[in-house]
Amino acid sequence: MKIEKVEGIVVSETNYSESSKILNVYTKEHGILGVIAKGSRSLKSKLRAVSTKLTYGYFHIYYKEDSLSTLISVDMINSLKNVKSNIKKISFVSYIIDLTVQVSKQSEDNLFDWLRASIIKIEEGLDPLIITNILEIKLLQVLGVMPSIDCCSLCGNQQDIVTVSVENGGYICKNCVTSEDKIYDEKVIKLLRMYYYVDIDKISKLEVKDNLKNEINEFLDLYYEQYTGLYLKSKSFLNKINGYDSIATN
Ligand SMILES: [Zn+2]
Repeated sequence: MKIEKVEGIVVSETNYSESSKILNVYTKEHGILGVIAKGSRSLKSKLRAVSTKLTYGYFHIYYKEDSLSTLISVDMINSLKNVKSNIKKISFVSYIIDLTVQVSKQSEDNLFDWLRASIIKIEEGLDPLIITNILEIKLLQVLGVMPSIDCCSLCGNQQDIVTVSVENGGYICKNCVTSEDKIYDEKVIKLLRMYYYVDIDKISKLEVKDNLKNEINEFLDLYYEQYTGLYLKSKSFLNKINGYDSIATN
């Protein structure tokens, strides 16, 4: 067995045998890995404090490709103390983790960098709803159900975009819009595109008015409901406890 150092975040933990745990660690190098933390539930174990959900660090492991790896030690990169001490931040980060893990099951892509960047930005104090929505729209691409945000989803027109439609899967131009279509604010239309293209690591400031934020969140909830069916329950719970209006109920 060879020892490897991998960068990762614990996304879930399960008790195993008398005193151990099995951790699922989302790693930069290998995607999601099952890692056994032997003896980590015993009070004097060095692994006790780091064998918990949301530990972010360098994991030294005996790496096995096809079965459980074994944890040796962890060098913490960031304690995520702001996230861990704030129920709102925790609820967003838990949802982000659940969603990313679910999407990973449907894709070969390693989503670690987006996951890490999103959590770090929430830790640094950026608006968790905006960060969550940015990640959600990026993940739609991975899921293969990206809305059309470069041109009208019906005719391909790149000009005169007047709204965005869940049913039609993206932008709608003035020639294609009907009285049935909900007209979203012009800024919502632009922000959806900006959210998709922005590099999460490079965001240093986020200012979006509450009504626009809520409209974007509502659009994405409806879109997820229509095209993915993923994790709407946990998302509507999150919306409820954080007081966001959302039509999506499940
Ligand atoms: Zn059109």
